[in-house]
Amino acid sequence: MEKRINDVVENALDLIGQAKTTKEIEQIRVKYLGKSGEITAFNKMMKDLPNEEKPKMGQLVNSAKERVESALKAQGEILFNQELEAELEKKGVDITLPVDINLGALHPLTKMEDDLKDFFASRGYIVYDGPEVDLYENNFDKLNIPADHPARDVQDTFYIDDKYLLRSHTSNLQVRMMESTKPPFKMVGTGRTYRGDDIDATHSPVFEQMEVLVVDKGVTMADLKTTIRDLAKHLYGENVEIRLRPSFFPFTEPSVEADVTCIKCKGKGCSICKGTGWMEILGGGMVNPKVFDACGIDSKEYTGFALGAGIERLAMSKYNLNDVRTLYENDVRFLKQFK
Ligand SMILES: [Zn+2]
Repeated sequence: MEKRINDVVENALDLIGQAKTTKEIEQIRVKYLGKSGEITAFNKMMKDLPNEEKPKMGQLVNSAKERVESALKAQGEILFNQELEAELEKKGVDITLPVDINLGALHPLTKMEDDLKDFFASRGYIVYDGPEVDLYENNFDKLNIPADHPARDVQDTFYIDDKYLLRSHTSNLQVRMMESTKPPFKMVGTGRTYRGDDIDATHSPVFEQMEVLVVDKGVTMADLKTTIRDLAKHLYGENVEIRLRPSFFPFTEPSVEADVTCIKCKGKGCSICKGTGWMEILGGGMVNPKVFDACGIDSKEYTGFALGAGIERLAMSKYNLNDVRTLYENDVRFLKQFK
């Protein structure tokens, strides 16, 4: 039987050596190692052998199997590579050419958000996050927006039930930060917000905002103005000028809106800035003491400033876009420009 096994193995190795294709290799595998294969058959014969011969025969059959398997594997790999090369040659593929990898890129809104967070984080601000679904109080009451305020109208705000809504601004982050953190602190946060606006070139019912809050002893308007100036220079370059206009927000007192010199016309006046030479970039002000009181911070001890900006607006001015919808349509031809 030992000789028969050796003969079978020799035959198998001969055939493997002559094989020209991976298909032939597979046929040889079946012929010898398949269910009814010639080597497999020796296993079946073993049960008829006297017990004392079984271990030796078992070893012989196993080593026969291993020799054939490793020859199949080695020759199979050589043939596989030959076939692959032939296939590539037939298709005219030059595998030495550089590959055209269509790598993805960050969305311009994501880039703007990351840039803003980096700017503030590098100045010691905590990057803070909060939920898009929040309590009425966190979105309105604690920010000094009373029940009869027009911003709370069902036309403008998406209410979920009698307690929760989709936040209409990221200022809920301010409330959550103040209620969870003992001053002094500096915070920046970004995220999605929702309002009942129709979609047009400058509006969307879903948009992104950035929120900044600084609370400490002795914070003044000068700190707010310096922060806005530094941010504007970071976004639009050293030569940009800023101006603050008085405004009104329930959660800040006094409140301002900040403009930068139009980046298109550098202040001369153009269609982008409607001839004024200025572009509005954000709103802010000194935290209203009523907000401190509602959020458990002693308004006699602490002052602070807050500012909020629309990320789409910042991205549109930075990248010179005139329709906010281009930021949501995910047209690859548009997004490719921001690689
Ligand atoms: Zn202009």
